[in-house]
Amino acid sequence: MPHTPRKATALLASAVTVCLVAASAPAEPLGLGDRLFPHLGNPGYDVAAYDLAFTFPGSNSKPLQAVTTIDAWTTAALDRVNLDFAHGTVDSVELDGEPAAFVTTGEDLVVTPADPLPPGSWMRITVRHTSDPMPAKDRDGGWVRTADGLAMANQADAAHLIFPGNDHPSDKAMFTIKVTAPSGYTAVANGVPTDVDRSRAVTTWTYRTQHPMATELTQVSIGRSTVLRRTGPHALPVRDVVPTAHRAKLEPWLAKTPDQISWMESKVGRYPFETYGVLMADVNTGFELETQTLSLFEKGLFTERGYPAWYVESIMVHELAHQWFGNSVSPRTWSDLWLNEGHATWYEALYAEEKADRPLAARMKAAYGVSDRWRTAGGPPAAPKAPDSGQKISIFRPNVYDGAALVLYALRQEIGRPAFDRLERAWVTRHQDGVAGTDDFVALASEVTGRDLHDFLHPWLYGERTPPMPGHPDWKPVAPAKAARAE
Ligand SMILES: [Zn+2]
Repeated sequence: MPHTPRKATALLASAVTVCLVAASAPAEPLGLGDRLFPHLGNPGYDVAAYDLAFTFPGSNSKPLQAVTTIDAWTTAALDRVNLDFAHGTVDSVELDGEPAAFVTTGEDLVVTPADPLPPGSWMRITVRHTSDPMPAKDRDGGWVRTADGLAMANQADAAHLIFPGNDHPSDKAMFTIKVTAPSGYTAVANGVPTDVDRSRAVTTWTYRTQHPMATELTQVSIGRSTVLRRTGPHALPVRDVVPTAHRAKLEPWLAKTPDQISWMESKVGRYPFETYGVLMADVNTGFELETQTLSLFEKGLFTERGYPAWYVESIMVHELAHQWFGNSVSPRTWSDLWLNEGHATWYEALYAEEKADRPLAARMKAAYGVSDRWRTAGGPPAAPKAPDSGQKISIFRPNVYDGAALVLYALRQEIGRPAFDRLERAWVTRHQDGVAGTDDFVALASEVTGRDLHDFLHPWLYGERTPPMPGHPDWKPVAPAKAARAE
């Protein structure tokens, strides 16, 4: 997918009058023009670092006090700086240490510098605000209230319900996260701990990422938790965060992580971050989430639902695989979501095949049977339909899960396993810590195989109907009634 130009029409329309009325024009919400979430992100700057400081009051229904500091470069002349922020009260804003005027409009916090900022300026914006754990009206995501505290689930468009920023995965940045909480609570965030200050009645934990991260992948766990440490391959530090009361019951599952990391490394190469671990949250979210270096899981997935062990393990591998596919390599736009979910589903299914005798081809054949209907309901994998407003499922439909893994299977059928394996390794190496989209994937597949794969992949990625599967001429769409019986 070509990256949608930033507010192209609005820029053209305002170009004529900008010199005359810039100072008095009303502040308006802006976005990067993402096809699925046009209001997300903001033009004119590139965030280098976030410093998030939260003070947890000891109740998960009361707002946290927060200070968000953003260091960024301007990439255009700005007489205003728009930040995404939609669910909290802003007390004050400083720009480069000076108080700055601000207004909130739509889902943006608009800051007006005393003097316009030229392109290439280094700026520091400090926002003092509240961060509200109670759900925003008609919105999902943001803080997740657990039985004993809080966690975060910000994918795709909810980080700005928690803190102000440039809430689009194309603008990755380094994060420092500080959490102050009353004694009895433990706070853990993405990255590695750099400081714990217990000198006062409250405790302040500080964590820092060693790799850039998208806002949607932020994680902060505050709870009556225990941090369990173990060692992964090549001495990788692994730490899990569990509700202390359930520690013993969860340990057999947590113990599986190091081998799962080794298995993923045998497929695609070295784990891309400084640490990994599983956050077991005492909450029913209905999903698990690959927050960077610390994946969020519902405790009940492991303790209550009676799923077979192979299935639960394959879901663990799904979130682990996202650390490469989706986190280290982030989507350029949300239409590139299939690159996250298709790959995570692929390794989930491959793990089940290798470890539990659940043949990948059988799963792909079943997916082929319903793929046309998934495309009708959710759009083709690389051009998904916009989220239905008020629908919890958002853009996370089967077309970008098994429907997209099916695209990868078709590609492997077409180019063969050795070339496919080279492509997967090249993808996570070439774009490590970066941002990449569908066009980049098609280009790399062509480069790795030495043949132009555009004509092969385009109908698989963008077609309304599923193309014939190479090597399986017998695979056909299955009628709804028959598919229902097959499930
Ligand atoms: Zn996923």
